[in-house]
Amino acid sequence: MLHKFEIKTSSRTQMLDITDKISAIVAKECLENGIVVVHIPHTTAAVTINENADPDVQSDMTRFMDELIPQKNWFRHMEGNSDSHIKSSLFGCDQTIIIENGKMVLGTWQGIYFCEFDGPRTRKVFVKLMG
Ligand code: ZN
Repeated sequence: MLHKFEIKTSSRTQMLDITDKISAIVAKECLENGIVVVHIPHTTAAVTINENADPDVQSDMTRFMDELIPQKNWFRHMEGNSDSHIKSSLFGCDQTIIIENGKMVLGTWQGIYFCEFDGPRTRKVFVKLMG
């Protein structure tokens, strides 16, 4: 079964912790061993796994990405958001997480983050479990 949920982002570049939402789906499916795939069906957003302890990590990462890949006035793409497309491809639109004994195998400080690069918008997240 393919699970889908929506999230609302509130700024142009943002990282949102979706670990609890994915964990709830894994718990609901009662899959003991397998994998869970998290897929973001957007070309200006992404998903990554990174530190969930200090929120300054997310603000440093988003600021760094905006400084590394700024909006340029020479972008030929008519939407003017090629920086968002580049960031999306760099981070990637999928993450695969191992499920062992009914729980995702994540490090102590790892969380799953939805990465918004062209918000604010309402976005979709697809989740598929395989065992
Ligand atoms: Zn575009």
